[in-house]
Amino acid sequence: MGTLVLVATPIGNLGDLSPRAIEALQGAALICCEDTRRTGGLLSHFGIRGVRMAIANEHTENARVAEVLDLLAGGASVAVVTDAGTPGISDPGERLVVAAIAEGHTVSAVPGPSADVMALVISGLPSARYVMDGFLPRSGPERAVRLAEATTERRTVVLYEAPHRLVRTVTDLHALCGPARRIVLARELTKLHEEVWRGSLGEALAHVAEREPQGEYVIVLEGAPARTEPTDDDIRRGLERELAGGASKKSAVSTVADHLGVAKNRVYNLALTVTVAARQ
Ligand code: SAM
Repeated sequence: MGTLVLVATPIGNLGDLSPRAIEALQGAALICCEDTRRTGGLLSHFGIRGVRMAIANEHTENARVAEVLDLLAGGASVAVVTDAGTPGISDPGERLVVAAIAEGHTVSAVPGPSADVMALVISGLPSARYVMDGFLPRSGPERAVRLAEATTERRTVVLYEAPHRLVRTVTDLHALCGPARRIVLARELTKLHEEVWRGSLGEALAHVAEREPQGEYVIVLEGAPARTEPTDDDIRRGLERELAGGASKKSAVSTVADHLGVAKNRVYNLALTVTVAARQ
């Protein structure tokens, strides 16, 4: 039986590709990657030649399964890499892993760079227990639900974010958590312009407004304080957010009551005042 090997690659600094990663890539019958030009550049930088590459990105990973399973069944080793970092972390990899396990193949990894773990451990926020929540949905009810989950989470929360959406996300986090919660913005990790900004959400709003965010970012958010009974203001803020996102009053009441764990009639009574305020 062959082995499927997930190989972590640099998130910026080529010096982070491990000797074992080079060995795994050189010894593979096939390297599944998101972009053959990008991975080809990495391979040639390290003098890895003659290994076939095939695209397995978010659209084609499923279609690649049969070929990968055939190679594994023939006893070959197949490597999986992504454009940067650890495969399977907000990146392709998981579907190949599931398919290989289902067929009884060995699945292994060459661990290495991952922007989420690096940001977490240098954040200065509690790192023993944390939640990696990937990218937030861009809009709609799914975003509201995930924001509510992230901001009520007691453990440290790690998020990926695109630079052009950073201001919006920091603004949403501020609206939900208030100004005091600590946040860390880890930018361009392992690269020339690596920068780690630490402060409160109130300060973060000003910081991201100072200049247009550029480069790659990881957000690390302090966990929510021990749960106390939600105040009327918490409920009003939740309702305002839901209504502004286009929810009907009925669904806003239901979502907020569920998220905050409070009685629907209490939320409903407050919703009457919020709707009036929004119309004024
Ligand atoms: N699998 C990758 C990993 O293990 O880190 C993550 C892939 S995800 C598609 C890309 C996101 O990771 C970026 O939008 C950014 O949020 C984060 N990221 C990747 N490289 C980074 C870096 N050098 N500095 C900061 N964030 C980075």
